[in-house]
Amino acid sequence: MTRAISLHDVSKSYTRGTRVVDGLSLDIAPGEFLVLLGPSGCGKSTVLRMIAGLEEIDEGELLLDGERANDWQPAARDIAMVFQNFALYPSMTSRDNIGFPLRIEDRGADPGPRVTATARMLGVEDLLDRYPSQLSGGERQRIAMGRAIARHASAFLMDEPLSNLDAKLRNRLRAEIAQLTRELGVTTVYVTHDQAEAMSLGDRVAVLRGGVLQQVGTPREVYALPRNVFVAAFIGVPRINLLQGVVRAPLDGAMTIGLGKQALRLPEPLSLDHRLLRVQQGREVIVGLRSEVVRIADRDSARPGEALITGLVEHVEFQGHEILVHFNTGSRPAVVPELEAPRPAARPPRRRRREGPGMLDRLRGRAGAALRAGPVVVLEDLEDPEDPPGSPASDTAPSGVRLPGDLVVRTTPDVRLHHGMQVPLLVDLDRVFVFDQDGDRICPSPDRLPDLDA
Ligand code: ADP
Repeated sequence: MTRAISLHDVSKSYTRGTRVVDGLSLDIAPGEFLVLLGPSGCGKSTVLRMIAGLEEIDEGELLLDGERANDWQPAARDIAMVFQNFALYPSMTSRDNIGFPLRIEDRGADPGPRVTATARMLGVEDLLDRYPSQLSGGERQRIAMGRAIARHASAFLMDEPLSNLDAKLRNRLRAEIAQLTRELGVTTVYVTHDQAEAMSLGDRVAVLRGGVLQQVGTPREVYALPRNVFVAAFIGVPRINLLQGVVRAPLDGAMTIGLGKQALRLPEPLSLDHRLLRVQQGREVIVGLRSEVVRIADRDSARPGEALITGLVEHVEFQGHEILVHFNTGSRPAVVPELEAPRPAARPPRRRRREGPGMLDRLRGRAGAALRAGPVVVLEDLEDPEDPPGSPASDTAPSGVRLPGDLVVRTTPDVRLHHGMQVPLLVDLDRVFVFDQDGDRICPSPDRLPDLDA
């Protein structure tokens, strides 16, 4: 039997006045693989622990198969958990570790056959007589997984089960978990802060920020139609380009979205989505451009719905199968501070001297203020004292912190580009996101139905 798990308006505080989970509602279907995704500290584990019965629910309801389960004992919930720290008993062999919950469940029963069947499923039969200290990290996590699945629980809760493993092993075990849970058909709630893991595993992904659900949808939905700038920036590699823009809708001229020194001219006749932008006339917005929405090509090859801008090559990142080109387009880039790890040192060497802890510290410092004020910080606010106005660098880059350009574009490795080249860029306006100052997506229209196969 596999469970339906529902949370209705669930909240939790550890200290009075600070909700670490705030009004969360989620319906997880029997057999579904749902990933809870969010930055560290956003409440993911707390949600999982409330489902497991390891943490009390302050407000709201937990339903298991439609029955209120807030007060059920953990054992009565018939749910198995897998943690990131493997949680194996060091004094027991793998066989005993896997069999332990079975012996607890039914003291008279012989767990042997179930342990063997589980070990076969996980490919760990030859490890059954070893102790945890004799196993590698990946093997230990397989045994931990075995302990969870041997019980035939009606739901699995997995809390960052792969985060202590190296990248190669993580990818392999990720595929194994996907296959295993599909075969078992057991409802699984999986917690991670790794968006790639979430996208590759989840039937649906629920994105949390500060204890509040931002969006829940299939990986394709959250990628293609993010509800707000946080989801847009969290999901996708390389991170979406966020630029400060301003909507210009003159009565007697073409509608444009100004991006600093350049503008995106919206094609006429205006689409319904672009007409809806008219009400933003004169307002500042945040424009979201995924790296695949912009291509390097001249005006003559523009397709309908593409707008031309130009970019100055700041940096070329060779990735093997593709190239990421960092352009300076003279616009003002923005970031979601909670998601902003220190940028890679991908700047031209001549500017490296300006890079230092001071700049990142200031960004982090501003992040706090920005969180109170709004979802994004526009980087022009971060004046670099080492860069006096009128210096050569100021002529080619937007004012403020010198990041490697303001726009990252993907292209094929055969394209030859070098620092300082001026390059024409075509922007696919149908796939440009526009967010308002609260960070909510206003274009494409928020109620547009996902048409993801088009
Ligand atoms: P995540 O799993 O997303 O990293 P958690 O659910 O572990 O986040 O934690 C959410 C917030 O609640 C964090 O700020 C964390 O410090 C806090 N927290 C978690 N457990 C406790 C606890 N037992 N007592 C007090 N605060 C806690």
